Amino acid sequence: MKLTFLGTGVAIPQANRVQSGILIDTGRKPLLLDCGSGVLNRINDSGNDHTSIEHVVLTHLHLDHVSDLLCLIKANWLCGKTDISLYGPAGTESYLNKLLDAYSYMKDKVDIQINELIPGKSYIIEDTGCTINSVRGIHSVPSLSYRVDTDSGSVVYTGDTEPSTSIMQLSNGADCLIHECSFPPGFETTNHTNPDMLAEMLDSNPPGCNEIYLTHLYPHMQGHENESLEILRKHFHDRVKIAEDLMEIIIKKKK
Ligand SMILES: [Zn+2]
Ligand SMILES: [Zn+2]
Repeated sequence: MKLTFLGTGVAIPQANRVQSGILIDTGRKPLLLDCGSGVLNRINDSGNDHTSIEHVVLTHLHLDHVSDLLCLIKANWLCGKTDISLYGPAGTESYLNKLLDAYSYMKDKVDIQINELIPGKSYIIEDTGCTINSVRGIHSVPSLSYRVDTDSGSVVYTGDTEPSTSIMQLSNGADCLIHECSFPPGFETTNHTNPDMLAEMLDSNPPGCNEIYLTHLYPHMQGHENESLEILRKHFHDRVKIAEDLMEIIIKKKK
């Protein structure tokens, strides 16, 4: 499975990091996780064709995770691709309907299937080779953390959240955990994660996964990357890394 970090940043702009987006490619149809501002261009930058994206999974409806969603749907429509399936937490359908009310000229042009997901339930995403499962995140709005299982490996993507035992349980046996790490060590936060909070969680609930990538970095993290990694390496040795936009990783199933 190839995973491409399209966007590793947040709502505040910064050099080299656009808002949230991850592309999963198993050699079949790709699966896009989140679609924040800048992600549509990053799909192009990564050498992928935006019209190949028929399945988009949303962690939650904050702007930095959905801003480019309608832009993607419109770009696909302009290129003759009108169908797309969306998967997200409760509220996704009414959000999309309101969005299409505001851009009513698109309403009859596109065919959008919306699936609101129930945490703890597995869903096979047709044609992608991916099965997804979720748990609730700890965030200011309804939010899901996902596990994506494929024949060639599995990955957990937290979206926005504080560390949680249910996410650690979801990560058991996964090959890779992509955990948000919004703020630097010592920065007090709720609804998000800093390295101290994540280290504490890893201490009491070591996940049974191969590696951890940190994403969703606020500008506050600039200059604190090594310090953050040091804190987490105490718990996860050299298997913790900071994600960068357009970084590609090949995930191999654990033997
Ligand atoms: Zn959020
Ligand atoms: Zn966010």
